[in-house]
Amino acid sequence: MNRELLAQQVIDTCLEMNALGLNQGTSGNVSVRYQDGMLITPSGIPYHKLTPDMIVYVDDQGHAEAGKVPSSEWHFHLACLAARPELNAVIHTHAVHCTAVSILNRHIPAMHYMVAVTGIDHVPCVPYATFGSQALADGVSSGIRESKALLMQHHGMIAMEVNLEKALWLANEVEVLANLYLKVSAVQQEVPTLSAQEMQTVIGKFKTYGFKSD
Ligand SMILES: [Zn+2]
Repeated sequence: MNRELLAQQVIDTCLEMNALGLNQGTSGNVSVRYQDGMLITPSGIPYHKLTPDMIVYVDDQGHAEAGKVPSSEWHFHLACLAARPELNAVIHTHAVHCTAVSILNRHIPAMHYMVAVTGIDHVPCVPYATFGSQALADGVSSGIRESKALLMQHHGMIAMEVNLEKALWLANEVEVLANLYLKVSAVQQEVPTLSAQEMQTVIGKFKTYGFKSD
């Protein structure tokens, strides 16, 4: 796909993220694999003011093209794309429910079968590190190898998929799961979960039949 079309898809994904209520202000950011690196949202520009020429190319060494400033969180976007070569799009948000669970430093257990959208039987939470730091990128990198979606302690969430449309779908599913988790755990400390065996069955079904975003 050509650069301008991909850049427009990045913008459309940002606007959709806002429409779904997944984003807080300009805190979310979106990237997609392009050539040796990625196209990523710029730093500090409201989504409704974005045009394709403002989307920033960053190469696999972390060098941004001249005259443009990528999102301050570009390190972990690049780390995700390096960690999962079969996936091409990364969405990061401070979605309220995911962030609330991340503050509790808990993973989302197998309380609903849809947890298997991550590819494993829970949504992990990776340890806190300062935003924009290599330490955070390193933690995210090992987390995303394990799971296509994760929580970041005291920060937010990341979802990664084969394309932007699916990554947005995944981000929204994980936010729904986080909302459910908070509701259930507010009533009952010990959240009931599905058996490990049943989750293996569901994870297998998702792999076999594929999971569609529409
Ligand atoms: Zn963030």
